[in-house]
Amino acid sequence: MKITNINGSVTLANGVKMPYLGLGVYKAKEGNELENAMQAAFETGYRHFDTASMYKNEEGVGAAIKNSGIPREEVFLTTKVWNSDQGYKSTLNAFETSLKKLDSGYVDLYLIHWPVPGKYIEAWKAMEKLYKEGRIKAIGVCNCMPHHLESLEKECEIMPMVLQNEFHPMLVQPELLEYCRGKNIQYEAWSPLMRGRIFDNKQLNEIAQNHNKTLAQVVIRWDLQKGVVTIPKSVHKERIKENASVFDFELTSEEMQLIDSLDKEERTGAHPDTFMEQL
Ligand code: NDP
Repeated sequence: MKITNINGSVTLANGVKMPYLGLGVYKAKEGNELENAMQAAFETGYRHFDTASMYKNEEGVGAAIKNSGIPREEVFLTTKVWNSDQGYKSTLNAFETSLKKLDSGYVDLYLIHWPVPGKYIEAWKAMEKLYKEGRIKAIGVCNCMPHHLESLEKECEIMPMVLQNEFHPMLVQPELLEYCRGKNIQYEAWSPLMRGRIFDNKQLNEIAQNHNKTLAQVVIRWDLQKGVVTIPKSVHKERIKENASVFDFELTSEEMQLIDSLDKEERTGAHPDTFMEQL
């Protein structure tokens, strides 16, 4: 697949277009930090933003979109239903709260943040309702293994269009990627830069040097060449620009394989099967 610029997007199973590159805003503090980051992102050409009710910055994200002057329909906005809000009615309520904070008539993608046992199926049914009403353009899940997706397939009407999971060169999970491809579920990487813990990797730095690029750019480019949507987070203008300057070089198939081979099944976050004990 050839993605030649920041507007490159994937067409989801329901026809909605999702930009391959977005800005993650977890831990971006509401106020100047978030505002400046989003302004820098808009100037750079980003049109995709990933927040969550749990990040406590939905109001700031909504305001930054309004202030950008970019028409709402040109922006792809994701938010998520937090664990304590899952269940049918409480998901409907949580959605209304998010929408109000975002000051938007709809969201482009609504995700289940973590699959809370005994609750996420009901949360999904609420999301199906909102989706059918046209208040969400696409629905998906985060932090799922195939068994979660199989439960949704068995018990619900609509399959998730997106799976947003932890994904970086130290955690590749090729079988899960393959599974999603088979079900037409778009894979999306969270913590693509391993929350900043990947920068001392020798092999990645060598590849970066070969291309006269930075390690972050190599990793983001690897995501794109794997067909994975990616949402690196930064609150620094120069890094926001750097992370989007990934359309003027290509990793060779040998380099792609080398990066794949760095997989150590190492997580920065919780495992989808044990997160209830960890979060
Ligand atoms: P990332 O892997 O995106 O790493 C972010 C860290 O790397 C920050 O410390 C940032 O610092 C630093 N960084 C960014 N770009 C560069 C660069 N070019 N050079 C050096 N350092 C850099 O971590 P996140 O955990 O934030 O993941 C990205 C997004 O994924 C989140 O913001 C969120 O939207 C989503 N997410 C979803 C989860 C889920 O459960 N669904 C869980 C976790 C994340 P600085 O900001 O100071 O520049």
